[in-house]
Order: sequence, then C-alpha cells, then structure tokens
Amino acid sequence: MRYIPVIGLEIHAEMLTHSKVFCTCSAEFGGEENSRVCPRCAGLPGTLPVLNQGAVTLAAKAGFALDCTVNPYSAFDRKNYFYPDLPKAYQITQFEKPICTDGKVNIRGKDIRINRIHIEEDAGKLIHDEYEGISFADYNRCGVPLIEIVTEPDLRSADEAKEFVEEVALRLKYAGVCDARMEQGSLRVDVNISLMPYGSSEFGTRAEIKNLNSLKSIVRAIEYEIERQTEILDKGEKVVQETRRFNDNHGNTKALRSKEEAHDYRYFPEPDIPPVLFSEAELSAIRESMPEMPQKRFERYTKEYGLPEKDAELLIGDKDLSDFYDAAARCNPSYKAIANLVLVELLRNLNDSGMCISDVKFSPANLAQIVKLSDEGKISKNAAKDILKILFESGGDPLEIAKANNLIMESDASALESIIDKVIAENADSVESYKSGNQKVFGFLMGQVVKEAGKGANPQLARDLLMKKLAD
Ligand SMILES: [Zn+2]
Repeated sequence: MRYIPVIGLEIHAEMLTHSKVFCTCSAEFGGEENSRVCPRCAGLPGTLPVLNQGAVTLAAKAGFALDCTVNPYSAFDRKNYFYPDLPKAYQITQFEKPICTDGKVNIRGKDIRINRIHIEEDAGKLIHDEYEGISFADYNRCGVPLIEIVTEPDLRSADEAKEFVEEVALRLKYAGVCDARMEQGSLRVDVNISLMPYGSSEFGTRAEIKNLNSLKSIVRAIEYEIERQTEILDKGEKVVQETRRFNDNHGNTKALRSKEEAHDYRYFPEPDIPPVLFSEAELSAIRESMPEMPQKRFERYTKEYGLPEKDAELLIGDKDLSDFYDAAARCNPSYKAIANLVLVELLRNLNDSGMCISDVKFSPANLAQIVKLSDEGKISKNAAKDILKILFESGGDPLEIAKANNLIMESDASALESIIDKVIAENADSVESYKSGNQKVFGFLMGQVVKEAGKGANPQLARDLLMKKLAD
C-alpha cells in the first residue's frame, strides 16, 4: 500500500542573549564544566528566578520573523520531571499561554503553519564515560534561554522538512535570535511522523524522534521512519505511539519510551515569575527594530543592486557572507564585480582553507579596494585574484600588495614601447616570419613582451602597441 508521510516539527533554538534566562550567568556556548553556574540556575532551594528581558524581546522577534501573532499576554508554567541534567527537577516553560501563536512559513509555494512559539530554559548536559561506567553532569547550559517552535503536521517529506528547517534557521539568524549552529546544539529538532494511506484524511499513529542536530540526520531519520512504519502497516500491524532516538552511526531509530510510560508533567503556573505583558506600542517598537530579513535583502540585491537572482540567493543563503558582501558594497558600488569576487574567489579561498568568513584577516573594505583598482584599470582581473589570495594568507593593504608584487599595470606607453622595441630587435627571425604571413608567431612575441614587462603589463595596451610596431 502507498502512504503519505505526515510530519510535524518541534525546533529548539537557543537565543543569543549574553546571560541566562533567569540569572546573570553567561549563556555563551562551552566553557569549563560547571564554571557558569550559580545557585539560581543550579536550582538551589530558596532562590528566585528573574526573567531576562532580552530573551523576551528575542522571542517576540522570532515570532515576527515567522509571521506569528505575538501575544500581549503570556505566562510561565512548571513542567515537572526529574532528570540528572535538570537539577531543579522541573523546567520553567510556557504551556497554557505561549508568547507567539499562529505563524506560517512558505516552502515550495505551500504554507507550513506554526502552532506556537514558547520560551523555556535549556537543561544541562550529561557526559557519559563508558570506560569508567559513570556519567558527569555539566550545568553550564542549564538556564540558557530557548524558544521552542512547534509546527502543525503540514510537512509531507524529508526534503520538505529539511527545507523548512533551513528557512527557519536562516530567518532566526537574520533576526538576530539564534546563531543556528546545529553542530553546537544551538538548534535542535524533534520530528513527529506518522503515515496516512493514500486517499485517507485520517492521520496514523505517530512516533516522535528526539534531538536531531543536523539537517542530514533529520532527513535520514525521517526516511528510516517512513520505511519502518510502512513495513509495520503493510503487515497489518499497528504503529506504537512512542519516543524514539536516532542513531547516527547505524542510521536507524530505537524506542526510548512508549506512551504508557510517558511522563505526566503535572504542569502548573510558575508562581515566581509574573506574566509577560506587551502594550501595543511596545510590540510595534520591537517590530520596527527587526533587522532586514532575507526576502527584503533579496529584493535589494536584485532590484537595487542589479544582481542576478542566482547570485542574490547564494549570498543570502549564508548570512555571514552576505553581511561581508554588504559591507564591501557600501565601500564601492561596483555591486556585480564585488559579488563576483566574493562568490567565486573568496568562496574558493574559504573552501580551500576550511576557514569561515569570520576568520579572514582582511576587511570588506580591502576587498572593495581590490575591485576599485581593477575598475580603474590599475590591475588586471588575474591580478585581482592574486591580491585576494595574498590578502587571504597574510592580510595587508591591496595597493601595497599590488606594488610589492609588480601587479600594477604598466599603462605608460613609452615604457612599454621601449620594451617592445627591444623584443623586436632581439627576435628578428620571428618578426621576419610574422611579416611574411606566419600569424602564429605573434603569440610568441607577445609572450616575450609580457616576460620583459612583468605581470604588471597592461595586456591590451601591450597587444595594441606590438601590433602597431609590427605593422610599421
Ligand atoms: Zn546562574
């Protein structure tokens, strides 16, 4: 039988605040184990949480970025469960009254609805030492502010899910809400998936796959589940509603807990945190403070800067690269030439070196200056590539690099003329051969001129002058 996959996602995104959501400990990634912990985020009795206003504003921005209603009233609840990475034995989250509701993100011409976005605190991390057979708890991540984005079950394939996560991650990055570094766990995805027979409109029983932290594992986990559930249904058996874990090494999913043993979280309103209230004026102030989102930037690139759609898409798909391009374009309005240098040469150097754009030793202004030198005819296109490569390796000033490496084009006709005279005098046989009709020799003579004049020779000027001299 053929089935339609029905997929919903829960995306956990860590917000880019300096401090944690209920205390002033640093919320930065990493750090020596348990070096960023205080009595509040360690959940010691008698401590009181104080809500980080910055986290609330970022959650509201996430709502605007994903086309949600940001609610003027939201409130916090306690979700009770014990786990060694959660020292309080409850998580502060928003259950009844989330900060954002009813959003949507368009993928392949289809709206994927977002049910809600709520604020919650992250848990710590457990480090398992399999050799010693013991586990360690690192509470640095306890209390890092998260948003959880919950979609309606509107996705129908692994590829759609991947594209959706990419789009959400990109928008959160542009909005300054989350750095979306899946490899560092700042964006993690739970997948709910069931199968529905073709022609039916009734959803099947779903399985939930927890904590996927790369686009690749999202795709693999969904594809595996589709296969697994198809086999079960084809045998006439029933899919069990359960939580499953994806194993990256084996590419399969294993049951963690079934619905029968599912937690009853006993939510109740968090008594220590007052509700979050927004006036209309506050909400419009946040909306107006939103940075430029990808769609707007795309329009600027294609309409104002005249970039081809493909170039604009490539730039926008990588926010750091696009920011770098923007800064360079502000120094020199040769928009297309700068885009070419960024998308071809800069990307090539980044790929070859395995570096990120944030690691490069030169500024966007340096890159803009290379393009300016080329626009002014002072360096050739090839020299522009060479200068960028040198900048990439050791930094410096493009003009100084061009001078030091003899890359400034010799536009002085008299200097070139004497070089050409010399080449003609030294290669009388070739000149004779050219004059008697052997056109091929021209390339050889031109080569001699370039060799004498160095890389800096303006090739067009040299070619014209040589042609003229040979015709004399
Ligand atoms: Zn703390």
